[in-house]
Amino acid sequence: MILGGTLEARLLAARLAARPDTAVTLSLAGRTRRPVRQPVPVISGGFGGAAGLEKHLRRTGTRLMIDATHPYAARMSANAAAAAAASGIGFFQLVRPAWQPVAGDRWQTAADGAAAAAALGAAPRRVFLTLGRQELAPFLAAPQHRYLIRSVDPVEPPLAVPEARYLLGRGPFDEAAERALLEGEGIEAIVAKNSGGTASYGKIAAARALAIPVILIDRPALPDAARAASLEEAEAMAAHALASPPAAALSAPAAAKRGV
Ligand code: NAP
Repeated sequence: MILGGTLEARLLAARLAARPDTAVTLSLAGRTRRPVRQPVPVISGGFGGAAGLEKHLRRTGTRLMIDATHPYAARMSANAAAAAAASGIGFFQLVRPAWQPVAGDRWQTAADGAAAAAALGAAPRRVFLTLGRQELAPFLAAPQHRYLIRSVDPVEPPLAVPEARYLLGRGPFDEAAERALLEGEGIEAIVAKNSGGTASYGKIAAARALAIPVILIDRPALPDAARAASLEEAEAMAAHALASPPAAALSAPAAAKRGV
């Protein structure tokens, strides 16, 4: 079972489903109203915490669970690690490496949304928020800014600040289009997550070209577990785990030693 909600999860599901002896299920939180089509059977709506997930793993006889959720889906990742440990099944995370600053980037980091809102400063600015609609509340404390807010589904109710406009969009977003958007809207600051990967890097590259400051919210800490940083690595780790007898479930220290 792959815990998804990301492009990588979808791609990994397709790769593993191509294996002749492997039945793959993809699990989604069920937040997005019209999720994109997935290449394998999907379950949606969550499990009811770590205990519910553990029950699900036992009931379905799942051999291997891969946490391929977004790097900011901290609760699901914690639940997954706990349920995997409790049930003794194979488990690893697929985590996109974070973006690293390069010359010309004007980045600042913030511990959370509240810190990012404060970092925008007292003077009104035109701000592009790309945080996901459930993480906008901290910006109520900074109503002096003019916000452009992009999300997959509509922000309902709208953010109660005097000036906010909304843009619906689902990545990937390329640099040229992001640059046109930032220029057209006269954006003076961006607040984003350090999602890693290519799908949402366009705004980061465009901000660099336009010398626009970017406030990146820190990634939450991940539970300790074996970790893949790419699809290829994840596919190899899955193949290895599924080739072993169920009792020899992939444990974090063993996987770390093997370096796969
Ligand atoms: P979260 O705060 O870590 O999780 C909250 C709860 O949602 C979990 O306890 C779980 O409910 C359920 N859940 C989350 N991911 C799930 C999954 N893949 N399958 C089944 N249940 C799941 O998660 P979040 O940050 O709201 O993210 C929700 C989903 O959106 C994830 O699938 C994530 O990959 C995707 N996503 C998140 C972000 C982001 O910035 N956070 C960005 C892009 C995509 P139960 O406890 O009931 O099991």
